[in-house]
Amino acid sequence: MINIPKGTKDVLPQDSYKWHYVEDICKSVADSFCVREIRTPTFEHTELFLRGVGDTTDIVNKEMYTFNDKGNRSITLKPEGTAGVARAFIENGLTNSAMPLKMYYFSPVFRYERPQAGRLREHHQFGVEFYGSNAPETDAEVILLAYSVLTRLGLKVKLNINSMGCPECRKKYNDALKAYLKDNFDGLCPTCKSRFDTNPLRILDCKEEKCKELVKNAPKITDYICEDCSSHFEKLKALLDVSGLDYAVNPLIVRGLDYYTKTVFEFVTTELGAQGTVCGGGRYDGLIEQIGGPKVSGVGFGMGLERILLLMEAVGAKIPDEKQVLLYIASMGDDAKIKAFEIATALRNMGKGVKVEIDHLSRGIKSQFKYADKINAKFVAVIGENELSEGFVNLKRMSDGECFKVSLDELKDYNKLLNI
Ligand code: ATP
Ligand code: MG
Repeated sequence: MINIPKGTKDVLPQDSYKWHYVEDICKSVADSFCVREIRTPTFEHTELFLRGVGDTTDIVNKEMYTFNDKGNRSITLKPEGTAGVARAFIENGLTNSAMPLKMYYFSPVFRYERPQAGRLREHHQFGVEFYGSNAPETDAEVILLAYSVLTRLGLKVKLNINSMGCPECRKKYNDALKAYLKDNFDGLCPTCKSRFDTNPLRILDCKEEKCKELVKNAPKITDYICEDCSSHFEKLKALLDVSGLDYAVNPLIVRGLDYYTKTVFEFVTTELGAQGTVCGGGRYDGLIEQIGGPKVSGVGFGMGLERILLLMEAVGAKIPDEKQVLLYIASMGDDAKIKAFEIATALRNMGKGVKVEIDHLSRGIKSQFKYADKINAKFVAVIGENELSEGFVNLKRMSDGECFKVSLDELKDYNKLLNI
């Protein structure tokens, strides 16, 4: 018996409608913000993530699925969605599009992490990327889009925001942070001790209790940002205020990726224990340039779909039932089976999305009824020799057992069935 790889999950036929429901809401909300879909490959050249995500991040250092292909190229399975979109943007000349260019994606994401509830080695993200605007309105729209998806799914979440400033502010802040941490160096976990030189900001993000305790009194980045960054942040807050969106400014949010500038945000819930972040994002004005493109700014987020589904389950969020099977055509005998097939084909070809099922296993009539019941068919029609010669069938409405006499031709008409 070969098992599923650790940290991955199957979506089984009885559950896939839940995914469709979530994906449809993501698409419909994105559509209302005039955002169009982009699809990029599941793997990219490793170099893209080294440059795009940053080679001092946990994702790049510890979590990437990297291998050499048969042509000896270093390939990496996407560890996040943004870098691939940025690469496609540059490579396809989308820099000449009317700006802002608004895109969304659904993507599998691969990270070699310690699997636990809500933390997988392959998970899926819905994400958006808005390019070509420096305005705080764009940051606000991105945040509202995520919020709108989450609330339409019936979820209650808290929004935390912060500003990470620009590289200029960051340099000043890094110095202040290092000065503070230097005095407390012995109290840091071993990973943070090594982060001290390479990427001290990451220490704010550490999940170790002793580091969390230490950074509580660290200098706050919002006290170090320049006038431009600070005015951007104030405007964003004003826009969120008029949108009626509650938020908290949390100076410890720095996000796991190096490319962020100015705005960063997270939507969190307390329902999922440790894995409470369902969506994270921010602004990245330097990313496109960093991977070889022109100076074009971006804002976006990534939303973990597995975590959203877990959360929906935890809070009992309603997911509409699957569409009902309209008709099960029971049949006895070879000629009747052919007729049943013909009727099912005609109904399916009407293109109205009706669900029709027939007997595939040559079951007896009684077990065909049992099966129709199991798949929750609305109507069952029985075709045997008599029905074939008379041209009429009994159509049984399963909810109350009432029967209707319908001609074989009428059975091919979806409107007829709907009017019963
Ligand atoms: P975390 O702090 O939980 O590790 P992250 O900062 O690594 O999250 P992002 O890189 O911002 O997360 O990814 C965006 C979203 O994708 C997260 O908010 C979360 O919902 C989801 N996500 C991230 N990693 C995983 C994972 N290993 N398994 C399932 N979902 C994940
Ligand atoms: Mg992570």
